[in-house]
Amino acid sequence: MSNIRKLHVPLRSETRAPTLSLLIPVYNEVEVLPHCYARLRSVLDELDLRYELVFVDDGSVDGSSDALAALACTQANIKLVRLSRNFGKEAALTAGLQHCAGAAVITLDADMQDPPELIPDMVRAWRAGADIVRMRRRSRAGDPWHKRLSAHLYYRLLNWLSDVPIPEDTGDFRLMSARAVQALLQLPERSRYMKGLFAWIGLPTTELLYERHARAAGKTKWNYRGLLGLAIEGITSFSIKPLRWASGLGLLVAGTGLTYGLFIAAKTLLYGEAVHGYPSLVAIIAFLGGMQLITMGLLGEYVGKTYMETKQRPIYLIRDVLQSSTQSAADKHTSSTEQYHHVQH
Ligand code: UDP
Ligand code: MG
Repeated sequence: MSNIRKLHVPLRSETRAPTLSLLIPVYNEVEVLPHCYARLRSVLDELDLRYELVFVDDGSVDGSSDALAALACTQANIKLVRLSRNFGKEAALTAGLQHCAGAAVITLDADMQDPPELIPDMVRAWRAGADIVRMRRRSRAGDPWHKRLSAHLYYRLLNWLSDVPIPEDTGDFRLMSARAVQALLQLPERSRYMKGLFAWIGLPTTELLYERHARAAGKTKWNYRGLLGLAIEGITSFSIKPLRWASGLGLLVAGTGLTYGLFIAAKTLLYGEAVHGYPSLVAIIAFLGGMQLITMGLLGEYVGKTYMETKQRPIYLIRDVLQSSTQSAADKHTSSTEQYHHVQH
């Protein structure tokens, strides 16, 4: 990673550094890319500021990678960071942030669920002093009811557990100032639960509401298993309260068991009642066994997390970085005179 940055820095001259970087993670989005690119350009060309488009190809296998490379080699103000394989959206975003040169960065999805038409509003909020402009969806129009319900319940649980408030219905559509990007990149953890990391950073934050529509084309990359994984990741990354609860629960169950034991002993001694109740014994043993397995699993979750973090592996690996040398908005559409840099690793 470090040698990429060394190569990357001389490619941009400070005076021509863009004001705004648009960061778009892409994984198998070949169907939506032309639409995405056209819509972004039409919005951004209206704005009177220098910008760059930073695409991160997260190991696509459907031709997105070639389509993006063709764009990066023929159009101005495009940077393409290609990862060595699919690392997941959060890692792709981290990789992209390392390559954004703008004074502000906006992350948005390639499927246009995050409407680029809101970019001017976000820039306005940033200029008014916000370091982070997070976009909160007003409704989840494209989602089925069970996804909506589980998302709602999950956020309730997460916020109950977490020390920092993690905003509900906020995805990865947000603007961040260079200061916020620097702060985020300082956080070294391998498991990158972005919403939580941004909540942890703090800094002046503005929230804007927006209508999130269904995907422009193609299919979502998420399934319930993946979402469950992300949900557990969110909780275990931002709270160790479940571990404390496990101890609390252990104390409670042990206390109850002891009291019950004393009660039975007293009853036998005082009244001479025989101890009976094999079925209740089985039920109690099964209950305790289950509780022990659950808490062991919980413990394992945190131990596993510690194990992954101690390996200190990089969050992502870059295959290559493509960019045209023309980085200024004023130079756009002058591709005949452009030269291209292809940084191979
Ligand atoms: N994405 C990615 N890597 C992945 C999965 C998704 O970079 O492993 C990108 C994807 O191309 C899209 C964005 O993340 O630009 C959001 O993905 P998707 O639309 O599938 O998620 P959803 O909107 O359903 O939450
Ligand atoms: Mg989507």
